[in-house]
Amino acid sequence: MKKIAILGSTGSIGTQTLEIVREHKDIQVTALAAGSNVILLEQQIREFQPRLAVLWEEQAAKDLQVRVRDLDVKILFGMEGLLAIAVMPEVEILVTAIVGMLGIRPTIAAIEAGKTIALANKETLVTAGHIIMPLAKEKDVPILPVDSEHSAIFQSLNGEKGNSIHKILLTASGGPFRGKRREDLLQIRVEDALQHPNWSMGKKITIDSATMVNKGLEVMEAKWLFDVELEQIQVLVHPQSIIHSMVEYEDGAVLAQLGTPDMRLPIQYALYYPCRRSLSGKRLDFFQLASLTFEKPDLDTFPGLGLAFQAMKQGGNIPTVYNAANEKAVALFLEKKISFLEIPELIQFCMEQSAFVKQPDVAQILETEAAVYDLIESRW
Ligand code: NAD
Ligand code: MG
Repeated sequence: MKKIAILGSTGSIGTQTLEIVREHKDIQVTALAAGSNVILLEQQIREFQPRLAVLWEEQAAKDLQVRVRDLDVKILFGMEGLLAIAVMPEVEILVTAIVGMLGIRPTIAAIEAGKTIALANKETLVTAGHIIMPLAKEKDVPILPVDSEHSAIFQSLNGEKGNSIHKILLTASGGPFRGKRREDLLQIRVEDALQHPNWSMGKKITIDSATMVNKGLEVMEAKWLFDVELEQIQVLVHPQSIIHSMVEYEDGAVLAQLGTPDMRLPIQYALYYPCRRSLSGKRLDFFQLASLTFEKPDLDTFPGLGLAFQAMKQGGNIPTVYNAANEKAVALFLEKKISFLEIPELIQFCMEQSAFVKQPDVAQILETEAAVYDLIESRW
């Protein structure tokens, strides 16, 4: 039995990971972690019987402890809990499905302990890719992408060892506001931005898809995962979300992975890599597909995407500034304290105002995050 642990088990990726475990019955869940959802985590503990469960909030962890006192499960809270999961001796694969830079320390701890990482938490690579990728190489630990685009690229690289990538074609749905102009987005409400045309995901990534900041984060994620130059990554708007991304080789051949938009496929591919297993759900019917279309991204309406390229070019702690400013801006937008168009404005402002650190270590990454939060709080 494969043994896995999930950070973020009550979220969109976390619950879909557990659906796969439920379907195949040959994976053992040894630990689960979530933010504050006591009720759902209790249900998950009763169904999957992990040895360790973690809630971020101390009071929530205490409540959980009482609720599961009839079971043989240890309950911890906070970063200490996440780190304990990361290094549990029996864990083989750590699924990182929490949101934000909180994932950096547990991911590093897990790699140091030799765990395979099934990585959904893209913010960790965006901000600490320069630490995580060399460490994974040194420890000979695979980082298996869960993000659908990166899984598609990973699948398109299968069997091509030694053949270098000429170009990565990273597809984007374009989100709910594709085709709109800047002036159309002045009055966007939170409810409008939470309507994604093709994917059902957590709130933060859904807003990131509407601003196209998600694609910006994915460009940076791809650069770290596949060790290519920024100039080799081309973003392609493909509204049907059927082609999940492609790789062009030196000879001009383009390999792609296609499928219905269903995150369970990339999650399952990471859990069983290199094996493919059966998966329930809809299959592609090419006779039903009216057409597959492609457009250039609109960088005027969605400046968040261009800013990501700029942040990655600047390097150092600037991708952290980009990511932290976006996390804070999205939170403010969800609280209805800033407008939709202010999200990229805030990112740009912070990128211009922040002090540059060339090779930030984890402490400096977290200091950068805190400084960006302070900067935004002092202005907005
Ligand atoms: P989500 O908001 O649905 O779930 C987040 C999970 O993290 C929840 O279980 C929550 O309880 C947990 N969490 C939050 N704060 C925590 C804390 N302080 N300590 C411990 N756990 C905490 O998010 P999601 O959509 O599942 O996204 C998770 C990650 O995967 C993100 O980095 C996202 O960018 C990435 N991702 C998601 C999708 C998708 O389809 N949802 C696709 C690609 C990549
Ligand atoms: Mg994606």
